[in-house]
Amino acid sequence: DPRVTRIKRSIRVVPDFPKPGIMFQDITTLLLDPQAFKDTVDMFVERYKDKNISVVAARAGEDRNPTLEFPITESLAGIEARGFIFGPPIALATGAKFVPLRKPKKLPGEVISEEYILEYGRDCLQMHVGAVKAGERALVVDDLIATGGTLCAAMNLLERVGAHVVECACVIELPDLKGRERLNGKPLYVLVESH
Ligand code: 5GP
Repeated sequence: DPRVTRIKRSIRVVPDFPKPGIMFQDITTLLLDPQAFKDTVDMFVERYKDKNISVVAARAGEDRNPTLEFPITESLAGIEARGFIFGPPIALATGAKFVPLRKPKKLPGEVISEEYILEYGRDCLQMHVGAVKAGERALVVDDLIATGGTLCAAMNLLERVGAHVVECACVIELPDLKGRERLNGKPLYVLVESH
């Protein structure tokens, strides 16, 4: 698909951000290119529009998990949340509802929580009880898959309430980190790989 070239070119790679040794995939430059942004959303919508998806779920919150090219424990507080950028337009265009998955203490209603283990330390995602019903077909969206821990936790939340996760979708995959292997065979669709 010729659109992939433009999308890939629009992503800026920032060396040594936020720590020395990390090649940060910066999607804010993709958002500055309206055609690339539209192409990204369009490609996902084309793939999912006839798949009877009723839930698009995405996480938001501070990033805590850098690309792990070397061991890091601290969270990456201060980096903007990006999980909410691609999910909502895909939900609107496919006629699905949008369900936020958030860090603890952000959602005001009753929540279910999924803790997950990082290479060093742990993290937690929460979802509102009642937002997703048993039997619903869900798509999990994020900007990037690194180790796969985030997507795995998101899938667990949805499956615990009885939803069927149809697929996970990311703009960027870092295949060297083998996050795909952590998804227990769940299909993952990505637009761009970065090594
Ligand atoms: P994982 O849980 O797969 O190790 O990490 C994926 C999460 O970390 C995603 O939510 C993503 O937003 C964030 N992340 C980690 N590294 C990068 C990066 O280089 N660029 C961007 N945009 N996000 C990253």
